[in-house]
Formats: sequence, C-alpha cells, structure tokens
Amino acid sequence: MFQIPDWAFEFHGHKCPFMPIGYRMGTLAMQKLRVNKSPNHEMHVLSEMGVGHPQGCMQDGIMASTGATFGKGLIEKLYYGKVAATFWYPEKGGIRIALKNEFADSLAPHEFFKFRKKGIQPSEIPEDVRQDIINRVLKATDEELFNVKMLPDFKYTPLKGSFNKTKCEVCGEYVFERYLRIKDGKKVCIPCSGQEPAEKGFYYPGFEN
Ligand SMILES: [Zn+2]
Ligand SMILES: [Zn+2]
Repeated sequence: MFQIPDWAFEFHGHKCPFMPIGYRMGTLAMQKLRVNKSPNHEMHVLSEMGVGHPQGCMQDGIMASTGATFGKGLIEKLYYGKVAATFWYPEKGGIRIALKNEFADSLAPHEFFKFRKKGIQPSEIPEDVRQDIINRVLKATDEELFNVKMLPDFKYTPLKGSFNKTKCEVCGEYVFERYLRIKDGKKVCIPCSGQEPAEKGFYYPGFEN
C-alpha cells in the first residue's frame, strides 16, 4: 500500500482522500519524469483546478510530494475546474496527469461524502470513515487512479527572479521593482497607484533588469 508521510497530513490540516490523491499524482509525475522532489525551483505545476468546487485539497498533496510549492512560486492554477495537472521539469519536458472518471465515480458513494454533503467538515467525520476512504486511494494502482500523458515537447518559461527593490515614493514601503507603477511621475507601489494588480505578475517594463 502506498504510504503518505504523517507530516503531509499535518501540513494539510485534516485527513481527507484528495490530499493523498494529489500526493500520489505528484509522486507519479516525478517517477515518469525521472526526477526527485525539488529542493529549489525545478518542478513547475500547472493545476487545472478552480475555486468553489471540491478536491482542491489535491493541490496540497502535489506540493507536499513534489516540493513545487506556492511559496516557491512553483504552482499556479489554470481555473479549468478539472482534477488534473501538468508537471514541467527543466530538461525533462512535461506530463499531464488526470484523475480517472471511473475512480472518482467509485469513491462517490462512500460514506465520507454523505457527511460532506451534510456540510460536515473533514476533521469532524469519524476517523474510521476517513481512514477507509484514504485506504482506498492508497491501495489503488496508478492505472486505476490516473490517465497519464507524456508531453516531451511541453514548453514552459519560468519568470526570472530578481532581488531588486525600491521604496514606494508615497508609502515608503519596499516593493520589488517589477511591481512598481508610475503615478504623477512617482514610482509607487500598486496600492498607492490605485491600479489593479495584473494577473500573473505583470511588471512595469521600464524596471526590468
Ligand atoms: Zn483535504
Ligand atoms: Zn506605496
């Protein structure tokens, strides 16, 4: 049976089946790409999940197994509302892994979801019910869980990091230069500019380095 380290459940905060599904998805991606957990900024993950639907817990599992964390800027969401993700690793190309409909359907009648649909949070569901559904995930084979597609030509260009920062001329707080805006001839931060932050870290080209 597949093993998930206890710390991953502690990090996630509760015991549910979706964090383990993500943990296994990330583990399989690393196996297929022949890489290890990323110590620095190697693996990038494009999660197809959105907001306001179940199974988002999967992404904590992906982060835990691959090291491609939110804090390191290595996972982003595509907002497709699908239980799938593409993993990209430098020099290795990509792989897309999606949860099989058949596996999702096989979990659906489980008692765990009867509690969830009544609005009961995972941490309040009886331990034996939670452990039973988690064991179903851990006992399944990769083939039962996932559709896998290797994407050897998948291209991804990570943003180049920069340590350059400047004081906002209005509030005086430091701001990393790619986020500076110009207002009334002053270099200011986004809140002081009154502008909307652009998606995906749009930066003011004049301050690129
Ligand atoms: Zn969860
Ligand atoms: Zn400011």
